Amino acid sequence: MALPRLEPHLVMANCQGRIYDDPHLLMVCRRGGQWGLPRPDELMPLPKESEFFLLPGRQALGLDPDSGHMSAPDGDAQLAVAAFAAPGHTLSAHPVYESAPDAPLLPLFAYGAVGFSEGRFYICARRVDKDPRQEFRHVPHGSIERGARELRRAYPHNRLVRHILENCVARHDCPAARNFALGRYEAPLPTSRTCNARCVGCISAQEKDSPLKVTPQCRLTFTPTPEEVVEVMRVHATREIRTPIYSFGQGCEGDPLMNPELLVESVRLFRAEGGPGTVNCNSNASRPEAVATLAEVGLTSLRVSLNSARDTLYTLYYRPTYSLDDVRASIQEARKRHIWVSLNLLFFPGVTDTEEELEALARLVGENGVSMIQWRNLNIDPEWYLRCMAGRGNESLVMEPSMGLSRFMKRLKKLCPWLVYGYFNPYLGDRASIDAPMPGEWHMPKMSWHASGD
Ligand code: SF4
Repeated sequence: MALPRLEPHLVMANCQGRIYDDPHLLMVCRRGGQWGLPRPDELMPLPKESEFFLLPGRQALGLDPDSGHMSAPDGDAQLAVAAFAAPGHTLSAHPVYESAPDAPLLPLFAYGAVGFSEGRFYICARRVDKDPRQEFRHVPHGSIERGARELRRAYPHNRLVRHILENCVARHDCPAARNFALGRYEAPLPTSRTCNARCVGCISAQEKDSPLKVTPQCRLTFTPTPEEVVEVMRVHATREIRTPIYSFGQGCEGDPLMNPELLVESVRLFRAEGGPGTVNCNSNASRPEAVATLAEVGLTSLRVSLNSARDTLYTLYYRPTYSLDDVRASIQEARKRHIWVSLNLLFFPGVTDTEEELEALARLVGENGVSMIQWRNLNIDPEWYLRCMAGRGNESLVMEPSMGLSRFMKRLKKLCPWLVYGYFNPYLGDRASIDAPMPGEWHMPKMSWHASGD
């Protein structure tokens, strides 16, 4: 017997921030230039530790099933609402609303479509990683603060320890930094004050003329020494003894490869004293020589961030001083030296999950030997991103038909069956075991436009 189709209602808020649902209007969601009802396979109960956002200057809209028209709700509660899904989840659609001409730009977070049905909230998203590393609801009250206090007391001279605990934990509630205070999972290693890209949605620095006046994080204001970096790694290794991961490239810094000597010396020193575990670098991967040198001294994995595998969209968003070819070259250098490469794919519903992106992404993955996709959400005001990407005659790039996140993931896996999917940097030991083909070994299978049921 077929299950009744889930049809969540529109949710909206009043000016005091009280959230209501409208039993007469259906939830509608947006994927790029398309509006529609959520697909049955993309609705899931709102995960624990998710958050709601009220969207100022944005009129909530739902579908009136009787008339078939889009309508605003009755009553005082008119503000559109979105949900920020807990880490480990990827959004497959944005909420639908109508923005007033003076609506303020939304801060750099991810805005998921959310509705209400039979006593619970639903979101258009998919859990892509079961790892609980950024869940904190079971952490005993006060233990993060206690861990931070003890570390500050034990390493008063180390500026990097202080930065992670006083800036990242205390001011920004950064999950990686909180885990460092708890001595578990992945330790953050911010090192760089500069970058060679100018991402539209950079979360640590914006230029003076940017319409964004605040960023969720602040750029690092000093450069640590290799000794300070190694001390953080050593501290973490002695506390997380099962699956220690150490990651360069954090939200509070520029790109770590801007300072390759520091990274190389830190990793070299750490490995020379027998430092165990996965040393990872999150980066825009613009510097192949730096990647090669780092790989030689003991790097385990490289996570390459991108919003698109297509040059036009990549360049419009990253505004880089390098090219996507440099990124490809970095991946190849890493693979030649047995480094696990993940893509940190900044997924944007309706722009990423298209036929054109699928082909470009499969080529980037297959031709260069990428092992994993981390399905991340692009944190940005959805309408602003579409405007930025559609500028200078590129409207068609954001108006392509969306196939939906689930189908996109399935079809990519069919083209590149070795791919591992997730959200977080995996623990790989000191040296990863890799199934992905070597650069040049893979050839694009024939693509089908009639891929039903795949
Ligand atoms: S690559 Fe990272 S640090 Fe550099 S501008 Fe983009 S988001 Fe900011």
